[in-house]
Amino acid sequence: MASEVLVLGAGMVGVSTALALQQRGRQVVLVDRRPPGRETSYGNAGFIQREAVQPYAFPRSWQALWRVATGQGNDVHVHWTAMPALAGRLLRYWQASAPTPYANTCAAYARLIAHCIAEHEPLIAAAGAQDLVRKDGWLQFYRKPALFDAAFRDAARVAQAHGLDCAALDGAQLIALEPALRETLAGAIHWRDPWTISDPGTLVERYAALFVQRGGRIAQGDADSLRQTGLGWSVQTVDGALEAESAVLALGPWAEAHTRRLGYRLPLFVKRGYHRHYQGGAELRRPMLDTDYGVVLTPMQRGLRLTTGAEFAAPGAPATPVQLQVAERAADRLLGLGQPVEAQPWLGARPCCADMLPIIGPAPRHQGLWFHFGHGHQGFTLGPASARLLAERLCGQTPYVDPTPYDPARFR
Ligand SMILES: Cc1cc2nc3c(=O)[nH]c(=O)nc-3n(C[C@H](O)[C@H](O)[C@H](O)COP(=O)(O)OP(=O)(O)OC[C@H]3O[C@@H](n4cnc5c(N)ncnc54)[C@H](O)[C@@H]3O)c2cc1C
Repeated sequence: MASEVLVLGAGMVGVSTALALQQRGRQVVLVDRRPPGRETSYGNAGFIQREAVQPYAFPRSWQALWRVATGQGNDVHVHWTAMPALAGRLLRYWQASAPTPYANTCAAYARLIAHCIAEHEPLIAAAGAQDLVRKDGWLQFYRKPALFDAAFRDAARVAQAHGLDCAALDGAQLIALEPALRETLAGAIHWRDPWTISDPGTLVERYAALFVQRGGRIAQGDADSLRQTGLGWSVQTVDGALEAESAVLALGPWAEAHTRRLGYRLPLFVKRGYHRHYQGGAELRRPMLDTDYGVVLTPMQRGLRLTTGAEFAAPGAPATPVQLQVAERAADRLLGLGQPVEAQPWLGARPCCADMLPIIGPAPRHQGLWFHFGHGHQGFTLGPASARLLAERLCGQTPYVDPTPYDPARFR
């Protein structure tokens, strides 16, 4: 059967794309080799990060670079053998993090992320997923008073510029909010706008179920089989070949390999991250970022989920969860962690682009092909807001935000 659009990839970005196109009257088939929401969109920290108006820049100061190079700190871990292959893209990331381009990137990022909650909210309601949502924000805490004071000054400036709600909590106020804490901390920034999700993969599954309930179709197939045809695009699925006028690549961390096959050289790379759940320890009321150990602690349905910072490694390199091991010890001192739920940590990959902006729009050299990936640290947050922009462009509607900064043509 011919549909109008094939969406390849059923993570948060692909499922949101399918819903946004369907809402505009398109017949959509969502194709993935796995069930919806089983990859990166399952394993993240579950934040809908309304406060994330500044994407993570490449460190520019020598002190910060030295810290990474010498393996101090726990927020970044590097497989040095992977560096030669990554150097070109990381150089572009470093250049894009210089003050002037970074300010432009932040402006564009902020314009899109401003819509994250407004675009998730109706989907959460329609999908009957309110039980997964907490609306009391998250805490970013510090052990050293000087670091806390400096971080709060920055946070207050950003909050004022973007109309965000953040508060400074001292150690006693923090313990009042989170009585399970055993250490007295210098303080925390309480970001109060973001929502957090107690099972990110289940939210994607519920969105996918909504898509089906509204008449959409999900098929199991492999994006490797995508081919251009006389009509548009075709893909092989377990139910046979499917063909459509348009195809959207929403393949998250796998987008680089697929676009390369089509002849594109996009500056995509991944930042790997680990998680593990723990049960039987203390219970947090809301998620917290431990800034000293670069780890997020999120109360989830399966237990307390620890998610780590960034790891740079070659594609397919074996797991090296050293950041998680350090974070486990710190979290145990802080809270009492209990026992791990999984035998091995989960390993996933943030789909990043060197200029820190997602790629949303038509493929420059292929009629009817659309790119929708590269959402980095905030793809779970941005899925629906970014999908609206993609769908408006594909359907010839006036885009609700200026699409230029995210257009794939910027890499022509
Ligand atoms: C540790 C960690 C913590 C994070 N925390 C947060 C957070 O708190 N908030 C936030 O907003 N973001 C967070 N992120 C980032 C976020 O998870 C990602 O940006 C987002 O999930 C990307 O969504 P996606 O749909 O693009 O990719 P994915 O969810 O990975 O979906 C891609 C899909 O493509 C499919 N696919 C791949 N290859 C093929 C193929 N050949 N054929 C068919 N299908 C294929 C996969 O099966 C998958 O379903 C975090 C990431 C990590 C790693």
